[in-house]
Amino acid sequence: MAEVTLTIDGIQVTVPKDTTVLDAAEKVGISIPTLCYDPELSKPGACRICVVEIPGMRNLPASCVTEATEGMVVHTASPAVIKARKTNLELLLSNHPDDCLTCHKNGECRLQQYAYDYDLRFGAFAGERHQYPIEDDNPFIVRDLNKCIMCGKCVRMCDEIQGNNAISVAYRGFEAKVTPAMEKPLSETETSNCVFCGNCVAVCPTGALTEKQMLGKGRRWEVKKVRTTCPYCGVGCTLDLNVINGRVIGATSTDGEVNGRALCVKGRFGTGFIHHPDRLKTPLIKKNGEFVEATWEEAISLVADKLGGLKERYGPDAIGVLSSARCTNEENYLMSKLSRAVIGTNNIDHCARL
Ligand code: SF4
Ligand code: SF4
Ligand code: SF4
Repeated sequence: MAEVTLTIDGIQVTVPKDTTVLDAAEKVGISIPTLCYDPELSKPGACRICVVEIPGMRNLPASCVTEATEGMVVHTASPAVIKARKTNLELLLSNHPDDCLTCHKNGECRLQQYAYDYDLRFGAFAGERHQYPIEDDNPFIVRDLNKCIMCGKCVRMCDEIQGNNAISVAYRGFEAKVTPAMEKPLSETETSNCVFCGNCVAVCPTGALTEKQMLGKGRRWEVKKVRTTCPYCGVGCTLDLNVINGRVIGATSTDGEVNGRALCVKGRFGTGFIHHPDRLKTPLIKKNGEFVEATWEEAISLVADKLGGLKERYGPDAIGVLSSARCTNEENYLMSKLSRAVIGTNNIDHCARL
């Protein structure tokens, strides 16, 4: 593969041809700030936060869409670069609610982080501000477009990875905004393709999109993230349970081998059953027409007795075993062993085939 060698902030680096300046910098440990860039999505080069200085180029190019070339010299933190980044961030902050104190994204917001890194304040430029109503008429996602910085990641995620095209950018200039079709809410079934997977929320760098179930349940830095496998289906997506004081308040994407950051509505928003008061945690045995709580030993003995009796009377093939995609591979393997080696029947199937 053809390679090119360039110099970034005085460090020489050799990368395959077609590598962007942003990726080349990353390779030598130089972190360039980004807002609209996402490694899994197409690159619009829109936010202009990742600008760098390349002598010989007329303007400051966006490093996420500039290809590294042989002999190129790049400055990622020159005075001109810092000034441009600051101005671009100040423009964003000037049309942004100063809501960090109560914002759910506080502590995990890119805009806030960069404002801190570049020592910026809200309101450097006076002017009109958006006054959008907050959309929260569905159980899953709260959309606060006042906090939207128009990075477009949600639109590209919904189109390029989720494939639903439920949102897009409407209008131009100051009026531009991300919206579902006909500016109806995401929940409007006649016009919206939204399946509430929440994958747009996973890539939003600000508090414009948030998980409704987690609002008010704790700050980001109080959350312990516990990596696990989604229990809902056989795909086995990786996700992070968000836990505060031993209670699961929701789930967020991580970088799963099977699913990347994509989850479905059940995996991302269906954690409510974990602490639900109706959740069955104890086996029940029907006695005199009523279910009564029993110990696991009682329940397993009863099932073993009944299965043993059936096998004795009618033979092992009178029994069928149905396993579940919600179990792990190991649990399904054990079920197969129980069926074939203990009960003695090959009558075993799995819900994913039905
Ligand atoms: S989105 Fe970020 S910058 Fe805006 S209020 Fe929330 S934490 Fe602050
Ligand atoms: S929740 Fe999923 S389908 Fe709905 S807008 Fe977001 S990414 Fe698209
Ligand atoms: S809602 Fe979030 S992801 Fe979508 S454009 Fe606005 S800031 Fe970007």
